[in-house]
Amino acid sequence: MSAMKRIIYIPFDHLHRSYGALKDAQRKEDVIAFVESARMTTGRPWHKERLFFLISSARHFAQSLKDEGFTVEYVKAPTTIDGLNEIKAKHNNLPITCAEPSSFTQYEALKNYGATFVENDFFLTPRPLFTLWAEKQKSFLMENFYRAQRIRLNILVEGKDPVGGAWNFDKENRLPPPKKYEGPAYLNHARDEIDNEVAQELGHTPIETWATTRDGALKQLRNFIDNHFAEFGPLEDAMTVENWALHHSLLSPYLNNGLLHPSEVITAALKAFKTGKVPIESAEGFIRQVIGWREYVNGMYWFLGPDYRKNNQLQADRKLLPLFRDPSKTQMNCMKETVTDINNRAWVHHIPRLMVLSNLAILTGTNPQEFLDWMREVFIDATEWVMVPNVIGMGVHADGGAMMTKPYAAGGAYISRMSNYCKGCSYNPKLRTGESACPFTTLYWDFLDRNQETFSKNHRMAQQFFGLKRLSDLPELKERARDVLEGLEAGKI
Ligand code: SF4
Repeated sequence: MSAMKRIIYIPFDHLHRSYGALKDAQRKEDVIAFVESARMTTGRPWHKERLFFLISSARHFAQSLKDEGFTVEYVKAPTTIDGLNEIKAKHNNLPITCAEPSSFTQYEALKNYGATFVENDFFLTPRPLFTLWAEKQKSFLMENFYRAQRIRLNILVEGKDPVGGAWNFDKENRLPPPKKYEGPAYLNHARDEIDNEVAQELGHTPIETWATTRDGALKQLRNFIDNHFAEFGPLEDAMTVENWALHHSLLSPYLNNGLLHPSEVITAALKAFKTGKVPIESAEGFIRQVIGWREYVNGMYWFLGPDYRKNNQLQADRKLLPLFRDPSKTQMNCMKETVTDINNRAWVHHIPRLMVLSNLAILTGTNPQEFLDWMREVFIDATEWVMVPNVIGMGVHADGGAMMTKPYAAGGAYISRMSNYCKGCSYNPKLRTGESACPFTTLYWDFLDRNQETFSKNHRMAQQFFGLKRLSDLPELKERARDVLEGLEAGKI
């Protein structure tokens, strides 16, 4: 008779041997279950590179557990529950254990199925601890959470004071891109048999940018620490047509599917900082992303609840514009470059996501859920917990300010300052009216005008509304805004 005692279910974003339900797994007692569900892979226009990455990583991870001597079941099924039923039927209806899933939908589905959960420790902040913090806040400022994290985790602090004399180095970390900037090359990850099998099933030729194994993810971490970390900070917000990643770590896919744990990334970063070769602005800027933003966004996802994703408080109902999927449908160089990069690699860094894509979505009044779905579909690292707060709260302010005190809306001047996109563009970021006016600039003022009532009492936007009042050409601008919106819908602007 089999001595197996339980089935450990591993979702495709829990791929770590030392965390989640696997940390105390026993070869002789636990069946390890993976389900490649059709619901996950079909039915939506998922970016093929994203699917390739998620599936191939899971298959490699399943293989590594088999190599360790585990009994592993990897099944394809219409849904996760169908797959688990199949595995249960094969293994005497053993009980199912899983680390707490990363989305409300999967949490409910597995709870109703009768799975027992162990704590989700793929983050540095347990969900109840974040709730304790959030319940005490008047407004959910990330900066306050981040400072508390620094002290709680004892990272870059001396007692209660920040190392380097400041909590953030945002001023140092907002440099525009230098001219003709190339920087060190990025790693390529050679493809193996499992990769080739997945690629063939998907009918996709993968690029070599993304690793699909734990070894590859660790190499990527090493490459970032050795070749990019020191220069990360000052250029973290810059965008350039000459270099698609600048000094970004490219670690988010592995952090989000479990191949790397944030504590491993932080340990490596702090060790490098201690050598004295990494300036504080880079160390702080990077560590803020990992222990601040990432943890905060996950905490907010669980704190705000499952209905939060339905928010549309600016009543934005425009359909997703064609240029989001097809760069040939626009003359706007920033959009063309950004969407081309996404189509090529399923990734662009946080500033094009926020200040180009989300900015255009909010300024055009694009429906938040349509935009959210698209962002989920095209980014390699786009989990539900990361995209819901990032899009609904931060990107398009659809939550009425529950998360951010003001919308991230900006005209072409910001993009012009932080990138070299405008040099190759048919439009002029300084103009707000006329055929050559930058659509961002026109739509920015139009957005403020349309939403005066909603935002006029927001003291953080007083300066922007003061600027709006001083515009002498508002009627002309509004006419141009109408033309721009029509042109964007027709794929001609
Ligand atoms: Fe984008 Fe406007 Fe600059 Fe063109 S001019 S690249 S549309 S910001």
